[in-house]
Amino acid sequence: MVPDNGIDWAAAQDAYGSASAVPGLLRRAAADPNNAEVWQDLWSRLCHQGTVYEASFLAIPALAAMSRSAAPTAHSQPLHLLAGIAGSTDVRGTADTLAQYAAALASCLPAAEAYAAAAADDADFCYALSVVAGLRGERVWHEVLTFVADGEAFGGCPVCGVDICLFLDTNPARVSLSWFPPPDGPELVLAEPVTIEGFAQELLEMAARHSRYNITRRLLALLGDSQCPTCEEPFSRGSMLGLGGDDAQ
Ligand SMILES: [Zn+2]
Repeated sequence: MVPDNGIDWAAAQDAYGSASAVPGLLRRAAADPNNAEVWQDLWSRLCHQGTVYEASFLAIPALAAMSRSAAPTAHSQPLHLLAGIAGSTDVRGTADTLAQYAAALASCLPAAEAYAAAAADDADFCYALSVVAGLRGERVWHEVLTFVADGEAFGGCPVCGVDICLFLDTNPARVSLSWFPPPDGPELVLAEPVTIEGFAQELLEMAARHSRYNITRRLLALLGDSQCPTCEEPFSRGSMLGLGGDDAQ
């Protein structure tokens, strides 16, 4: 069930050094998918506080095989770890070989869709969107969507550098210098859905498909128009979150 493909794990590195323990952990996880201790060990070796290593990439085919065969429940451990590895922006001690695994990651998109359908609530649904972003190699979206689960997003002004918080659930949505409610900055004008393109459009379609209207509103607020509370520089399309300015990628 766990493809090994002749990998020399002992020569590869994980967060603690030689990755020789990883294949055994992957086999145990595949045999006993609810073993929390094994998953915790895999997380700390392969996606240590969000940092990934050579062994993290090498584990992708095995984690993908587990993700495809896992029950479509709200919490699929292999799917979360897979998306965490693919969505990491902190690659250490190895070349970034993510592109080599695009097909394996894409093969898990139906599992992510099943996870979204089984999501217990809006927050869980955002984590499902975050998984999709990871599987698609949309690394900035992967991180931003974990914030969206809490109805807020954190960024910084590219002009003056001030830290800002976007309050997506208030009415109206607002930008704020304070991370505590109520928000004290300018209004965040929701983006028009027809103007959204690229991966952001796919996220909106996914929210609509699963009748997650509150998440649709959060995404349109995230992609909306406002200005920096300090220097008044205008921004839109999540540009203060690193989402790529006006093309909403
Ligand atoms: Zn500014």
